[in-house]
Amino acid sequence: MSDRLPGFSTLAVHAGAQPDPTTGARATPIYQTTSFVFNDADHAASLFGLQAFGNIYTRIGNPTNAVLEERVAALEGGTAALAVASGHAAQVVVLQQLLQPGDEFIAARKLYGGSINQFTHAFKSFGWNVVWADSDDIASFERAVTPRTKAIFIESIANPGGSITDIEAISTVARKAGVPLIVDNTLASPYLIRPIDHGADIVVHSLTKFLGGHGNSLGGIIVDAGTFDWSTGGKYPMLSEPRPEYHGIRLQETFGNFAFAIACRVLGLRDLGPALSPFNAFMILTGIETLPLRMQKHCDNAKAVAEFLAGHPAVASVSYAGLASDKYNQLARKYAPKGAGAVFTFSLKGGYDAGVSLVSKLQLFSHLANVGDTRSLVIHPASTTHSQLDDAAKVKSGAGPDVVRLSIGIEDKEDLIADLEQALGA
Ligand SMILES: *Cc1c(COP(=O)(O)O)cnc(C)c1O
Repeated sequence: MSDRLPGFSTLAVHAGAQPDPTTGARATPIYQTTSFVFNDADHAASLFGLQAFGNIYTRIGNPTNAVLEERVAALEGGTAALAVASGHAAQVVVLQQLLQPGDEFIAARKLYGGSINQFTHAFKSFGWNVVWADSDDIASFERAVTPRTKAIFIESIANPGGSITDIEAISTVARKAGVPLIVDNTLASPYLIRPIDHGADIVVHSLTKFLGGHGNSLGGIIVDAGTFDWSTGGKYPMLSEPRPEYHGIRLQETFGNFAFAIACRVLGLRDLGPALSPFNAFMILTGIETLPLRMQKHCDNAKAVAEFLAGHPAVASVSYAGLASDKYNQLARKYAPKGAGAVFTFSLKGGYDAGVSLVSKLQLFSHLANVGDTRSLVIHPASTTHSQLDDAAKVKSGAGPDVVRLSIGIEDKEDLIADLEQALGA
């Protein structure tokens, strides 16, 4: 073996996996079992006391899921990861380790619509208060910091408009405030952007999107960068204080640079329960093997479609950071040089009615509420994902009434352009 470090595509195929030691199976088996037999009573006790690593019960961990966790940790450059049932479950589990009732976290206003709902309504009922900031105005994050701030949450490529976030600038604000920076890297995937390289402390994903990539399995994952010191100032008691459910151990002291991933597993996943099915882990692992190939095609197609739309008379504007004229193009060149992703919006001169009409005329594009599928997808956010927001909030989050969102798939770009042409022209 050479001492070369494996490249990204090699990791996408191999990281975390080896032939099954019992059967020689080369693909990662689906360990479709709820529970695992202990060697003896001492072994059982040491697993329950966190003195040894091993399998107990699939709600807490599973060997198929473990391969997925190791693979995504390797692709993101983190120390460890925890797979959960969905992207939203990842967000709940992360924040449960960081916030006590009455605490605050700062979130960029440009977010996935579901995250806006989750943060505004569900998290409020836990006593976790979201304070909104604007990624285009870094000072708005600084102004939002209070003594109760426990985290900052942003998307690397932000929904729905595909804008690129200046991760390094916001990580500087987080560092100064002494709080971790959480980056939702769903729309970029680690193929395009690795947030940890730019100062993120925690990365979350909806595996449902580009990582799984085929629109067939829900999943989420949390990656611990291992960069944050949880012991300072008693600010993060879940990590720094003795845990009564584990004989008084302190997670940071015991697990060091992967303590956050452990906390998410042994306090979050164990008690809240959103475990990922091993079958879904298998489907998502299979998807990840082709992530580099798919992601490049997604981006190349998206750029071609964005260029076509920018030249069409019915289109008022296109927000795609991969276009040289786009306001996020500088940031795209810095953070996502291989491509600016495959999810973007454009607006129609005909406004809301034209948006609704376009969606109904497209044939190859599927009208549905998802992104990151092999198939091309379309949605009109103002009448669907972002319909709960008032008009001003819709515009602020990039989902004004005239806006249509596309998620470009890996079909032939000529076919996608032809479909848009007939739908816009008819
Ligand atoms: C889909 C999505 C989520 C939520 O993930 P689920 O797997 O649907 O729970 C979170 N963030 C972004 C950016 C998403 O696209």
